[in-house]
Amino acid sequence: MENNKEFNSKDNLVLPGDKIAVIEEFLPDETCYEQEGGIYSKVLGHVVTDPKKHKISVIPKKSHHLLKNGDIGVGRVEFMKKQIASVNIYHLNQEDVLIPINAVLHISEASQRFVKNMYEVTRPGDWLHFRIIRAIKPVYISLIGEGLGVIFSFCIQCGHELEYKRRNLLECPNCELIQPRITSKYFRKNLFRKLRISRNETR
Ligand SMILES: [Zn+2]
Repeated sequence: MENNKEFNSKDNLVLPGDKIAVIEEFLPDETCYEQEGGIYSKVLGHVVTDPKKHKISVIPKKSHHLLKNGDIGVGRVEFMKKQIASVNIYHLNQEDVLIPINAVLHISEASQRFVKNMYEVTRPGDWLHFRIIRAIKPVYISLIGEGLGVIFSFCIQCGHELEYKRRNLLECPNCELIQPRITSKYFRKNLFRKLRISRNETR
């Protein structure tokens, strides 16, 4: 098993979806998955192998995140009502969250300017850059602050990724529909190395 050296380093930090081995060499455990002959990591962590038993595993870098008020994160809007949006947190303080944390955005924390309802702020599938304002359950987030707001957004009519028109206004390059959002100055800037932006899935 000499040829597995490249997978054997404890310094080798892998991200969810990174290929870590091939199926001929190792059996994946619950921290990895097999796809078309390759073994891929499910988690952010370090690869460890046991060549004798042909076992491969990824030790998660963090098993949990201790939330603190003021933490900065990125998450996706799962559903919304007029006054609130439910957001799954996938990244906190520049690191992946292993198990998404559910949080609530209330309309009063959506913008410094007056907004009538959540439909002017965001839509399901959008990605938000936010700040934690209540670090215990139910977790609350705010979009009020430097650089906070919507960073990726999708057309409510056709699902295409939206483009920046001007502050708090986005345009669909596909169907030309113009729609409001509370935009971050980081709009369409990928704040994380491997943040996989899509409408319905993250990894
Ligand atoms: Zn569209």
